[in-house]
Amino acid sequence: MADTKLKRSPHPKHVLQLVLYSDFLTEVQGIAPEFTHVELGTGERATLRLADYVHYARAARGRLESFVAAPMPTRPVPCADCGPCRWADHCESLWQAEDSLFNVANISRGQVKKLEVAGINTMAALAEVDRPVRGMAEGTRARLVTQARLQHARKTGSPSFELRSAEPGKGFDLLPAPQPGDLFYDIEGDPHYEGGLEYLHGVWADGQFRAFWALGT
Ligand code: SF4
Repeated sequence: MADTKLKRSPHPKHVLQLVLYSDFLTEVQGIAPEFTHVELGTGERATLRLADYVHYARAARGRLESFVAAPMPTRPVPCADCGPCRWADHCESLWQAEDSLFNVANISRGQVKKLEVAGINTMAALAEVDRPVRGMAEGTRARLVTQARLQHARKTGSPSFELRSAEPGKGFDLLPAPQPGDLFYDIEGDPHYEGGLEYLHGVWADGQFRAFWALGT
């Protein structure tokens, strides 16, 4: 049996597919094929010995069939593959509908797990937490609670911010002491300006801000 694929080399999913076809063929003709082939886009033929793959492929198929026969509850957990995933809109709508902890910016899977073990399951609940969470550093808990509180408030109000307490060796404390002649520099663009506006440079010096703009077209 041969299957054609517009590929340069055979892929594991081709093997699973061909084992399935071979099993169907076995039912029809009463004898199992020994080999199967992938006709590649390069014109080459990859030959596979079915006995090398059938046990794994049938076990994987069995797991899938068992799951389909008695589906267990599942939940989406964000990962690096979400971007191009075809289910991204569906998963996003679920996270929004259940006010998921995964909506909290910069939260990790491990942190979500610890919070859920502590009975904290939604962003709204996290925003109210005022007690330690087992296994989580107090600074981390405080940061996540603040983030959840700001995002939760944003749902019904305008964007807001909270200044974090000063910490030696962190944040603004890393800046050198102010000196006469200090310049503060920024670079931005404004794509919403008609025709686009390129904000090449902005400089704050001696109590005044000066922007240097350029049209984007
Ligand atoms: S978007 Fe795709 S990869 Fe991300 S959680 Fe949903 S199903 Fe999984």
